[in-house]
This record gives sequence, structure tokens and C-alpha cells, in this order.
Amino acid sequence: MNKAFCKEPDDTRPPRCPRCGGEGTRVEPATLAAHVMAGAAAGLGEPAYYCGTDPCQTAYFDLLERVIDVAATHGLPWPKDPAGTLCACHGLTADDVDADIADGVPTRVREVVRRAGLPDAACHTRSADGRSCVARVQRHFIRRRAELGGG
Ligand SMILES: [Zn+2]
Repeated sequence: MNKAFCKEPDDTRPPRCPRCGGEGTRVEPATLAAHVMAGAAAGLGEPAYYCGTDPCQTAYFDLLERVIDVAATHGLPWPKDPAGTLCACHGLTADDVDADIADGVPTRVREVVRRAGLPDAACHTRSADGRSCVARVQRHFIRRRAELGGG
């Protein structure tokens, strides 16, 4: 049992995932509802948090350490869901990023970044943490470009 969790909640710090200890990102009920079955969503209290640690099997959790596993969700981004997209809003996949790197010009990534800034971007419900996918896309792009040795 994590003793730190039994103390008074510290409002200045984000709560941590009960499984991996990573910081959670608060999600709105609409975001949760878009990614889990209604019954599972009801098992979490508010506020609910998204675990952003890539290999962690926790998708969402609450302050009482109740957890919804990745297996019980749908539409989470890669690599949380290995079959998922990097940006669900615009359908960008990990393969698209590799193709951009092979091309030497990040056409697909740039287009997603551009569209994510438009008013009709659907990140609020489609993105697993309710936030823009741009940061995740850029993080992955930079990491893959280094892995593949591209310029
Ligand atoms: Zn976690």
C-alpha cells in the first residue's frame, strides 16, 4: 500500500498512477465517456485522470486508486493501444510518421499540426487525455527521426 496516498491530497501536485507512479492528466467526463464503456466509467469517481506513461496498462484512474485498464477502453492512441493512432482526431499513425521521415519532409505531421489548431479539431473527445495530440505527435516524430538516423 502506498502510504503517500493515505495523506491529505496535495492540490498542487497531479495525482499519480497507482500502477506506474506516473503523473496523471485530469480528464473531463465527456473524454472518459468517449473511450470506455458507460459501466466502466461509472466505476471511477470524479475527477478522473489519464495515465500518460506509454507502456503502462492503466488507462484512467481516480483518487481512490481505482483503475480502468487499457484493455477495457477503445480509441486510445498508439502506443498505449498498439493498434491505435498517434492522433485519433486526424488519423495520423506511427506508420505515417515513418513515411514522413523516409520522405525527408514531414508533410503528414505538418498537416496534422496545422489541422489540430483549427476550431473543428476533435481532440477534446477523441484524444485520450482530452488535450491536443500535437505534443504527442511531435514527441514521437523527434524520437523516431533519431532512431532511424534521418535528418
Ligand atoms: Zn500508469
